[in-house]
This record gives sequence, structure tokens and C-alpha cells, in this order.
Amino acid sequence: MSSKNGKRDFLDMDKRTELDQLGEFGLIDRLTKDTKKYQDSTVLGVGDDAAVIDAGDKYQLVSTDMLVEGIHFNLMYVPLMHLGYKAAIVNFSDIYAMNGDVTQITVSIALSNRFSIEAVEEIYKGIHKACELYQVDLVGGDTTSSTSGLIISITALGEVAKDEIVYRSGAKENDLLVVSGNLGGAYMGLQILEREKEVYKDNPEMQPELEGCDYILERQLKPEARKDIVHFLKELGIKPTSMIDVSDGLASEALHLAKHSELGVVVYDEKLPVDQETYNAARDFNLDASTAALNGGEDYELLFSISQTDYDKVKDNEHLTVVGHFVDKNAGSSIVDRGGTQIPLTAQGWNHFEGEE
Ligand code: ADP
Ligand code: MG
Repeated sequence: MSSKNGKRDFLDMDKRTELDQLGEFGLIDRLTKDTKKYQDSTVLGVGDDAAVIDAGDKYQLVSTDMLVEGIHFNLMYVPLMHLGYKAAIVNFSDIYAMNGDVTQITVSIALSNRFSIEAVEEIYKGIHKACELYQVDLVGGDTTSSTSGLIISITALGEVAKDEIVYRSGAKENDLLVVSGNLGGAYMGLQILEREKEVYKDNPEMQPELEGCDYILERQLKPEARKDIVHFLKELGIKPTSMIDVSDGLASEALHLAKHSELGVVVYDEKLPVDQETYNAARDFNLDASTAALNGGEDYELLFSISQTDYDKVKDNEHLTVVGHFVDKNAGSSIVDRGGTQIPLTAQGWNHFEGEE
């Protein structure tokens, strides 16, 4: 073992690259770029919301997401039941983003002796609740100990008819970019919880100021996955040309669709759907509500592209908003601000490795 900048190295090599130099997506690319495929049944591996496996007359979908205490949640304000519920929901969301249905989950959990059996049971109450509501079966998992924090990793299995699958990569030039529901609420809910946590730390006698924030707190603590939208689109006779779920903010996800479809995307700031509570909270925090919508994340809405010929089917729909369109790759990706100025679209997203020492 060698040591450099006071950090221990795990390999005796001259070169050491810090995790934050690559960011999350860069790291995944680097780790998986030489992945070999040995099975004919693997239709799509790394790179979409779920892996796609040929299961005969259908495609099987597989997706994993991990939640880590101190990174993704803080038990000072997240009730354990909500944590279990959310851990399941974020996985369901990735399957719906493939236009599929969730069928089963496995749940892996690492716990320290800080947690009682009753506490773990609370987490499972939330998982069972999500399974009941979305009609998903819990079929296995793994349980182990951890030195301090709590980690929950869930794998969701799903299925989709072969001609119904939607990838991140199918958008065409001039297709419309559409998002379900509204954006930025979960992020503003988190800001409220963080603020009240600080107030509580300074003065445990103070009552938290949560009035008028019910909706955005629910968006943060008890999100839903948009199974209803997948079914609704079928009823409308729309098959999206590409789709992704909004876990990291609309900017990052729109750029993923553009990149995988080898196109550029134009997003209109004034079109972004923002709820009044989100807007009010953003104002209180001196934030631009559009920034929360573009970069906040955790909304778990569906972002997808449709052909212009489907415009009439979505235009007056209260659940769906057209927020932009796809353009030639050479035109690049941009956002048109409220003054009409076009500026490059960038994804701030989240870098979980930042500042880790
Ligand atoms: P999402 O936000 O939809 O959950 P991610 O950004 O987490 O997707 O992951 C992007 C892609 O990279 C997915 O296809 C995922 O399966 C894959 N991936 C993420 N981490 C790893 C890893 N450590 N090894 C292999 N593949 C990974
Ligand atoms: Mg996803």
C-alpha cells in the first residue's frame, strides 16, 4: 500500500485517479466499457433505465437502485416506513421508464446494531405497502451487518411486450419532449426538511414550520412511480419514441435522451410544470423554481418523446406537458429562457463522490 495526499491507496500503482474526477456517469462508463456479452438473450445491458433480457415471447426487465444513509436519506427526518416505501418506488420507476410493468423485487439490506428489529420491521412495512399498491411480489434478497449506516438495495424485475418496449435511444428529430406531472417539488421538500433539521439542532423546543408544504414534503418523503402514465399513454394510443424517469432533474434526463438518440434537445423554461407549493418554497429560499425543476431531481416523473403527429392527443392533458423538442445533433442542446435567449443546457445532477475525504 502506498500513500499519497494522506490517502491510502488500495493498489500499489504510480497513478491514482480520484473518484470525483470522473463523476458518477464517467465512472460507470469506465468500469463497463469493456463488458463482454456471452448470452444471446441479453438484448441490452448497461446504459438504460433497466437491462433488457429476451424471455421468449416477452422482454424481461431488470433494474437495481441502492439507497445509502447519509447520502440518499437522513434518518433524522425520514420515517423508516417512508424509507422502505421510497426504496421500492425508485426501482419501480426505472421499469415504468421502459414502458414495462413491475412484477417482482428482491431487497438487500445492511444494518448496524443501532437498529432494532422493530425499526427494520417499519422499513418492511413501507416496502410491503408499495408492493401492495403496485401489485409487485417481494421474492427474495439478502441481509447483512454494516459498521454504521443503513443501506438498502432493491432489484426490480419487470416485463414488457416486445413491440411495446421504449428505450432512451429512439427519439427522432422534431419529436416533442413531454413530461408527466410537475417538477422540482421533491427538491424543495428536501430543502424544507433540511432547514427544519438545522432549526431543531439549535433549539429542540421549536416546532417545525411545515405549514403549506404538505405536497412537496410528500413528493420528497413518499414519492410515487408513474405506472398510471404508462397505462394512460396506451389508452391515448401513444407509444413514446424514447423515455427515461426523472431521478436527477429534467436537464440531466433530457440530455440522456438526446445523447442516446444522437440528437440535440431544446427545452423551454416557461413550459416547465411547477406546482404552486414548489414555487412558493423556491421563493422563500431565494431560489429560481426552474432551477429546482431542471436540477433538483427525485421527482420520479416520466420524461419522453412523442411524434408531432401525437401532439393533439397530449396538448390539453392536465397530466402531460410539452416542454421542448428534439433537433439535429449539430445544433446542440439548449434551454430557452423566459426572455427568449437560448443558452446551452447543462446537467448539474449530483456527484456523490464530491468532497468525500
Ligand atoms: P438510473 O438513474 O436510471 O437508476 P443509473 O444512472 O444509476 O440509472 O445507471 C445508468 C446505467 O449504468 C444503468 O444501466 C445501470 O444498470 C448501470 N450501472 C450503474 N452502476 C453500475 C455498476 N457499478 N456496474 C455496472 N453497471 C452499472
Ligand atoms: Mg432511471
